[in-house]
Formats: sequence, C-alpha cells, structure tokens
Amino acid sequence: MNDATQSYSIQPENQKVTNLLSIDVEDYFQVSAFERVSPEAGWGARELRVEGNTERVLSLLDAAGIKATFFVLGWVAERCPQLVRCIAEGGHEVASHGYGHKRVGLQSQAEFREDVRRSKALLEDLSGSEVSGYRAPSYSISRQIPWAFDELLEAGYRYDSSIFPIRHDFYGIPDWPRFIGPAVKIADGSWQSANVANGEPTLVEVPISTVRIGGKNLPIAGGGYFRLLPYVVTRWGLQRINRTEGQPFVFYLHPWEFDPGQPRFQGAGWKSNFRHYLNLDKTEGRFRRLLGDFHFGTIRAGLNL
Ligand SMILES: [Zn+2]
Repeated sequence: MNDATQSYSIQPENQKVTNLLSIDVEDYFQVSAFERVSPEAGWGARELRVEGNTERVLSLLDAAGIKATFFVLGWVAERCPQLVRCIAEGGHEVASHGYGHKRVGLQSQAEFREDVRRSKALLEDLSGSEVSGYRAPSYSISRQIPWAFDELLEAGYRYDSSIFPIRHDFYGIPDWPRFIGPAVKIADGSWQSANVANGEPTLVEVPISTVRIGGKNLPIAGGGYFRLLPYVVTRWGLQRINRTEGQPFVFYLHPWEFDPGQPRFQGAGWKSNFRHYLNLDKTEGRFRRLLGDFHFGTIRAGLNL
C-alpha cells in the first residue's frame, strides 16, 4: 500500500466509519437486463416513475439526516431538471451515470467520450457544481476496455465508481482491489490499481463493496443482493468491512427498487425477472434500518474532493 492509498482509508466521525452511500438515478425501463424488451427508442413513451421514486429516497435520507451521492442518468436529468436541482439543494452530491445507459462495452470510444461529456455538462448546468464522479451502466468497465479511464480523466472526472470486484455474468473485475484507491496508467496502456502498480495516480477508483469469505469476494452492498439476503446477513457483512477491515463500504440502490407498483416486463428471462422484481416491497424497510445502523456520507466528501 502506498501513501496515496492510505489517505482514502477511514474517515472517523463519532468513532464510526463513514460509509459511502450511492443512488443510481435511472428508471425501471432503463436497466441493462431489459435492454432487449425495453429498447431506448421506446423509453419516451413509457410511464416515468423515477422522479417520484427518487423524491421518496430523498425524504428517507432527510428523515435520517444523511447525505448521499446520486449518479444521475443524463436522459433522466433532461426530462426531470427540477429533480437534479432538488438533489443538489438538499446538500447531496450530483454525479454522472452517463447519458444513455448503454453498457460501455457496447459503445465505441468516440460514443463513450460523447456520453460522459454530455452528461457531465448537463448535470453541472443543473446542479450548479462540479460533477467529479462517474458510474458506468451495470458496472460495465472491464479490462477489455482500456480506454474508459483515459476518457473519464480527459472529460474532467476525478473518481470512478464502476468496478465491482466479483465474478458475474454481466460485469465485474474479480481481481481488482476491494477498497478505494488511486488508479494508474501503466506502460501497456491499461489501468491498474495503485495498490499493485506504480505510476502517477490520476483517477480514484471507488469499487462497490464485497465481503471476502473463503477466498472469494461476495456481493453484499446493495441492489438485488440487498433485496435477496435477510437484512441481518447484510448488516453482518457490512459490519465486518467496518470493524474487522477498518474500511468504509460503498453501498448502492436504484430508485426503482423502492417501487413495487412499477409496470412489469415480460420476456427478459427468469434470471433477469428474479433479480429485478425480488422483494421490492422490502427495500424501504431494510433501507430505514440500514440508515439507522451505519454512518454514511457522500463519496465526494469521503475522498476529500
Ligand atoms: Zn444503471
């Protein structure tokens, strides 16, 4: 571990670790698992539920006195500009989820450049502050796309939160370090964690948290895993990251995960349906418990940006 890495470890406040809470602001019809049954061309005709669902998340956070990072999709920001203003005025961080929610591997380098620049400019106009962070649709920055970090850096982003260090059928870089640290570009043009390679750190990577059991990284910090596992299991895993490893965890949810009444898609396959619709009615209750059990802040504040 080098000096630059150490500065991102613990943010003590009231003797607790400050964890990083993130919300990916997209609608139920934009998730990658539904890209075939809900192509982008039809999005404009669908019932928009993201605004109401995000307002519900904001009110839960307000009640708990917690600030979070909102990775907002540019497509949503254009249609709900007041929502972006509201997030910023609430003291939360506005960050970018890109513009069109196309997985990075399905975009050319030029398309990706346009997508991350367009969303950043739009969100900065609406929020009135710098957008420092980016999260790729479906954590889709993989080792096969070496230019993604180059483009983020050139577009002016200061951190990325797209790497999920697990094995999964759609995403993940299983051997990326599990905790926050600088990323560096090495001689062959690829990017590595500064924990394992030398170079000038220019972009900070904020991986989604995992719990390490039996030599494997297991997902524990949000989304479908939060809805699947009993809350006490999630709490145990997250406490282990804070107490045993002394690290903050990075947690994520989507506004549609708070919405059991959303329209249902057919034809995406049982696995995608299971992941998307499981326990939507449990999210809010579990989220309230989570907010009471742990200390949270924005990613920008956690990185001292
Ligand atoms: Zn997304």
